[in-house]
Amino acid sequence: MTTEVVQRTALLRISGLTIDTEPGGTSVRLVDGVDLTVAAGERVALVGESGSGKSVTARALMRLDGSLAIGGSIRLGDTEILAQTERRLAAIRGSRIGMVFQDPMGALDPLQTIGAQVSEPLRQRGVRKKDALRRAAEVLSELGVARAHERLGAYPHEFSGGMRQRVVLAMALIGEPEILIADEPTTALDVRVQQQVLNLLDEVTRERGLGLLLITHDLGVVAGLADRVAVMYSGRIVEDRPVRALFADPLHPYTAGLLAAVPRLDVQLARMTTIPGAPPSPALRPAGCPFHPRCPVAMDRCASETPSMTATADGGRRACHLDRGSRN
Ligand code: SF4
Repeated sequence: MTTEVVQRTALLRISGLTIDTEPGGTSVRLVDGVDLTVAAGERVALVGESGSGKSVTARALMRLDGSLAIGGSIRLGDTEILAQTERRLAAIRGSRIGMVFQDPMGALDPLQTIGAQVSEPLRQRGVRKKDALRRAAEVLSELGVARAHERLGAYPHEFSGGMRQRVVLAMALIGEPEILIADEPTTALDVRVQQQVLNLLDEVTRERGLGLLLITHDLGVVAGLADRVAVMYSGRIVEDRPVRALFADPLHPYTAGLLAAVPRLDVQLARMTTIPGAPPSPALRPAGCPFHPRCPVAMDRCASETPSMTATADGGRRACHLDRGSRN
């Protein structure tokens, strides 16, 4: 299965992505040469601690932050996202790319009805109001909103947190995008609702054959959902492998540290470990391997030589000087 996933044609192809704070003061590199692909129907999780660069990468995919300088290439099919005018980008957002953000309340306009907001992407394409609202009710209903047609006139504050996230998902899906980008979609929700939203993402991506890029700080949430996991640290991807292989045998010490910190029912809280120290500020990225000050198995060369990305035997890749799991 793993090789099959890697060989599928890429729907989203990120190559050599760099993101810098805009020159003016001292420019700081937030993302430093990220390569990542998502194939049609593939579910990829981009995982890392706060400040790793994962969310800024997600926002760059939609060019949502005009204050950053973005380099490299982001291709959606044959379309180079970085070459699009703002007008063309607006058409791509919501039609070819659907986005779900962390805070459903922040993504919704409190003064507009649910129906108006969910139907908006279709209205922008010139669909008649009546037809757009009918389709909005259908999508909401498919996502488990009971009596969806009657609730089109409700406002966001009349919905629970979990229901609001369904509304945001409906807004992302109504334009029938090719890929869904979900940035920490469960972080603001309680554990029970988190699981419902994950199940829903699983269902809609499977049923619609949608590509998914799931951005999360929590490796625990990706096990049942992702086909592949890319782990980010200090603006770079350090390991990118099929989910089962990565969970069974992480090949990068940072991934191993993240996994050891994932809560498990069979391990008492007191025995769970955390990675000592904190990720470096992008302005103070250490030389060599940026993880070396925190790495339990660092060698002398790690402080001066930056490890390059090498292919692993299972069709993945990782960047570490340790000689494990390489293809040859
Ligand atoms: Fe640890 Fe060295 Fe590998 Fe970095 S390159 S993760 S410091 S062993």
